[in-house]
Amino acid sequence: MAASFTSPGIQEADRSARLIDKHGRAITDLRVSVTDRCNYKCVYCRTGNDGAQYAELPLDDYFRIVRVLVNLGIEKVRLTGGEPLLRRDLPTLVRELAKLRTVDGNHPLDLALTTNGHLLADLAQPLKDAGLTRVTVSMDAVDPEIFARITRVPGSFHKVTAGIRAAQRAGLGPVKVNCVLLRGFNEDQVVPFAKFARDEGVIVRFIEFMPLEEDRLWTPASVIPVHELLERLSTFRPVVPLKANALSETARRYTFDDGVGEIGIIAPVSQAFCGHCSRIRLTSDGKIRTCLFSQFDHDLLARMRHGATDEEMAEWIRQVVEQKEARHHIGEPGFLKPSRSMVHIGG
Ligand code: SAM
Repeated sequence: MAASFTSPGIQEADRSARLIDKHGRAITDLRVSVTDRCNYKCVYCRTGNDGAQYAELPLDDYFRIVRVLVNLGIEKVRLTGGEPLLRRDLPTLVRELAKLRTVDGNHPLDLALTTNGHLLADLAQPLKDAGLTRVTVSMDAVDPEIFARITRVPGSFHKVTAGIRAAQRAGLGPVKVNCVLLRGFNEDQVVPFAKFARDEGVIVRFIEFMPLEEDRLWTPASVIPVHELLERLSTFRPVVPLKANALSETARRYTFDDGVGEIGIIAPVSQAFCGHCSRIRLTSDGKIRTCLFSQFDHDLLARMRHGATDEEMAEWIRQVVEQKEARHHIGEPGFLKPSRSMVHIGG
């Protein structure tokens, strides 16, 4: 059934209403988890057991929340999960979000999606038509057997590569491909991924494994350090750094000595970028999270259900965001894992 949306009407917001935390960081980037269901069981994320319970809201709730946040200065929205393509009504949400305009400059939102790619081949064009701007596909190996060992779903690899190619054909490129590197699983995939980036015209980004998994798998030794990653890349060709696109960019960008191919390194553990963080998250059950590693959820949905107006929601969100954590404490004595695992936060 198609979702019904209240009209966004004219967006009015004054500059003093923008989201700025007490550390002076402007919050312009929102990740929205539309479900915490997932069709993969990646070893670094999930337990491998299918949880009976999942949480997702009707699309008009997400739409209302995002509209309120856009009026507070959000400019980039990334839809994620769980696996967002499991929501059959996702193109409807994209179509509605694509109508919103930023308060600074009245531009369309930068509207992105993070997906495992399994269902992307058929959905890339409808999502592009609905107004999606960009896609990031998570893919942790270019060897189908290693891929299956990590995702714990046999026979899916070729669906993901078909999804990547469909996204490029649909004009959602350059597609970014995110690979979480995990000692003992896929560190030997670094050079094959470099070749994949060059052959397929995608931007491959290696992400450090973070302690956000449902299982207790993470140890400092399970993280592939940046220097090892760069050494591995340079066995293929000399690596050349590229300029950052923006201060809040999470990835350090590289190419090779012939200028062909782009590689990103996202190192939240060994080279944290909290000082420039511009992100907040909305979980699929309507909670605001101000940091991946927060010990708290902030229950926006409860306020909505108790009849808060848009203005009351906005004021409450401003207060919550002001208290955003300065940084994470991974690897420090007394570090506590966050109150939720990645699949229930929205990556
Ligand atoms: N299902 C979608 C996907 O696979 O991209 C979106 C959700 S997934 C939780 C978002 C991203 O989080 C993926 O790129 C995944 O690899 C990453 N991720 C999950 N657990 C992680 C962990 N423990 N450390 C680092 N990245 C992780």
